[in-house]
Amino acid sequence: MSASYKPALLRAIVECVQRNRIENGRILLVDLAEQFLGMYWTQTVVFRFRHSPRTAAQPEIVQRMSEVADATGIRQADLLPAMVRTKLVTQLSRVLTINVLQAFHTSKPVQMSPLYSWEKEDDSIEVSVESEQFIRANAEALKLIANYYWARFLTRLNASPRLIDKIERDKPRRAALHGVAAAMVARGETMCFYCGVNVGPLNRIHVDHFIPWTFVFEDKPWNLVAACEPCNLKKADTLPAEPYLQRLIELNRRRWSLNENRTSFMAAGVNPEEQLKELYGLALSAEWPAGWAAVVP
Ligand SMILES: [Zn+2]
Repeated sequence: MSASYKPALLRAIVECVQRNRIENGRILLVDLAEQFLGMYWTQTVVFRFRHSPRTAAQPEIVQRMSEVADATGIRQADLLPAMVRTKLVTQLSRVLTINVLQAFHTSKPVQMSPLYSWEKEDDSIEVSVESEQFIRANAEALKLIANYYWARFLTRLNASPRLIDKIERDKPRRAALHGVAAAMVARGETMCFYCGVNVGPLNRIHVDHFIPWTFVFEDKPWNLVAACEPCNLKKADTLPAEPYLQRLIELNRRRWSLNENRTSFMAAGVNPEEQLKELYGLALSAEWPAGWAAVVP
């Protein structure tokens, strides 16, 4: 587990310094824990990364976050109720004092000067003036190093597309897809892909990522379908049942025959049909929540 906690700590310290969460050379453990919460929530709940080969053996804090997400249905850390958030931060502060703060230094080369000091019982770490200057001057490079080790650790356990891009984000943002909806209407795709109801005027169309965006982390046109609001909300970030995959393959063949957007459909010589099937299989093998089906009215 230390392989993930250490880069997390490095990144948390850099973020705290950059955001001026440092006073008289001290960073509070709760501020570090806040950073941990943001990073681990995104990785665990949004991107569903495994931090251990066995589902039952995820680190305590990762398990706790999954439980909270499942119990509340909340997928965005910003929306956590204050009490739940405070409890998670407290748990993370404790993890820092037990597993992380000491371990960071025991593994460093002797000739390297320590980045911070910390005594048991302290509720903050101490960062010397030199360290603070060093961190400020090299913040982006330090984050790259942290992300590199984090990615190396997670790659062993996760078959996740664009893993490095995901790790670099602590608040995933989605692009607006208005243009895509207009193109769907122009092609006559005005029925919900899942339940078939008419989604009619442009402003009622929900552009849905067939294979969830949190898994593919991109907006390829062959993975986008028109959906009604209820289907879009109920499907959330689950993987649709297998028959829909065939339906999308057929829809893409029709789109293809319309001879529109050929370049974006065939970017870099990638066969979208093969890629769609491959990504679908990959999501299944990653044990992504699957088998969602719409209730047809
Ligand atoms: Zn629908």
